[in-house]
Amino acid sequence: MDIPSIRERLLKRRDELRQRANDASADLRHEADPLSADFAEQVTQRENDDVLGAISHSARAELQQVEAALRRLAQGRYTTCSVCGGDIEPERLAAVPYTDRCRGCAEGSRGAAGSGRVIGR
Ligand SMILES: [Zn+2]
Repeated sequence: MDIPSIRERLLKRRDELRQRANDASADLRHEADPLSADFAEQVTQRENDDVLGAISHSARAELQQVEAALRRLAQGRYTTCSVCGGDIEPERLAAVPYTDRCRGCAEGSRGAAGSGRVIGR
């Protein structure tokens, strides 16, 4: 597991997401593009705002996941499933670098798929 390069990748992603969320928020505040006096134009602008709101929302949601992954990385728990305590598959982390659960737990109903550790026994 190449932790430094994963960390690098997560940091880069975090910056992209911050940028995207900030850009969308700035556009939503109409800093560079004040609301038009024309009603039809305003309708278009408000529709655009709905899209921007969705972009901003999804960027922030992913940003939280990326930040949580960076914290787990710093704590040495990056490859540990937060549900069953087992190891997260390296290929899964390569595909979804901010995931905090192994394939079995992510897929839910199939549970820990035998990779869980019973704690305290
Ligand atoms: Zn798991």
